[in-house]
Amino acid sequence: MNAGVILAVAHNQPVMKLLITNGTIIRWNAQHRVEQLEQHHVLIEDNRIRDIVAAVPTNFEPDETIDASGCAVIPGLINTHHHLYQSLTRCLKPVQNAKLFDWLLGLYEVWRRVDFEAVKLGSQISMAEMLLSGCTTTNDMFYVYPRESDVKAEAVIEGAAELGMRIHAGRGSMSLGRSKGGLPPDDVVQDEKVIVKDCERVIEKFHDAKSYAMTRVDLMPCSPFSITFDLLKETRALGKSRHVLCHTHVAETEDENKFCIEKFGKRPVDYLASADWAGPDVSWAHCVCLNSEEIKLLADTKTAVAHCPSSNMILGSGIPPVCEMLKANATVGLGVDGSSSNNGAHVLAEARQALLLQRVKNGADSFTAEDALRIATLGGARLLNRERELGNIAPGFAADIAIYDLNTVEFAGAAAQDPLGALMLCHSPRAKFVIVNGKAVVKYGQLATVYLQGLVTKMNDLVKRRFR
Ligand SMILES: [Zn+2]
Repeated sequence: MNAGVILAVAHNQPVMKLLITNGTIIRWNAQHRVEQLEQHHVLIEDNRIRDIVAAVPTNFEPDETIDASGCAVIPGLINTHHHLYQSLTRCLKPVQNAKLFDWLLGLYEVWRRVDFEAVKLGSQISMAEMLLSGCTTTNDMFYVYPRESDVKAEAVIEGAAELGMRIHAGRGSMSLGRSKGGLPPDDVVQDEKVIVKDCERVIEKFHDAKSYAMTRVDLMPCSPFSITFDLLKETRALGKSRHVLCHTHVAETEDENKFCIEKFGKRPVDYLASADWAGPDVSWAHCVCLNSEEIKLLADTKTAVAHCPSSNMILGSGIPPVCEMLKANATVGLGVDGSSSNNGAHVLAEARQALLLQRVKNGADSFTAEDALRIATLGGARLLNRERELGNIAPGFAADIAIYDLNTVEFAGAAAQDPLGALMLCHSPRAKFVIVNGKAVVKYGQLATVYLQGLVTKMNDLVKRRFR
């Protein structure tokens, strides 16, 4: 590649300027405390934020202006755990009331029917729902590669690019089939050599290590009960050598703890740690069933947690010790988890769920609206090792912003008291505008990048034909 030519083209391209005017800006100050600026303006150049000002400089001539009068303007929300394809099987009737292992056993039978087109469509439905809720960056762990299927990581990555969503696409995996003592049926797990080779291929083809990258590839073996120890170690070594993040499920239920003690003689956290699965480039989803030593291990190793309250509640998994984790200074991000367990993907509503669930256990003053916004923005950015470019509205940060109209029935009265409190304590409607990487992908509460109703119709047809 001739870098000189690329630079010359970039230099000649005009800078696109976007102005967000007259909003109530809710952002983080240098001490990472929430700060509210009334009637301020956000100046955006190309894909990043140039400044936040009380008066727009006369020499800033925007190509596009968004009027945010009467709106809250917050950092784009970050979703740190998902299985996007699972909207194909949300509300599947036979498992609506099942706990994790039974729920999985029922779903594997349906998930073995996935192919490229189904995964792409299901993923786009999940991402569309998230974008409309104000989420700008998502994780995805896609781990079901049935033997006869044409599915590839491209299904999710292409889907995200078409919608304009920032993604950490996880090359997920399962290698421990039922015949070897694992939970999934043998025909939905893959050979370990095939998995490692494809992880390398996907990193090579799609991982963008540069700042403000729209697509990164992370490695995401599914769980201790669907992966061999050798594959865990090998995947982690690959992640370290290629400088990509590693993410897996850990300690989601007491059944999982029991399974690991019986099969490996260790609790899941010890098992993962013994495979080198801890560190600032590692995150664990759920962590519902942790003891105090395990929380200390998280904090000491700077391993991050993706907290998924709705999923934990729907599957009856328990209440994760999030307040204890935060008290120990561990990094906690927010996740909606797959659409088959959450059944929804509204990330702002999920922040409210986090607040409610911690209060059930720890009392009314244990988890504030600010805490909820923190895990949904800063915590997620830190989990993704991107705290200098995502999760805040500040000069130099990526232009990822969610804008909510406060003049709605859901917020009436509340927004006049406290806009942040309204966002986190009231029932949230859709975002009015959502900016990802400097581009408005949601305008007036509608997706601007794809024809959503077309996707919805296609999705309902497909589910009726193949995923019931
Ligand atoms: Zn999950």
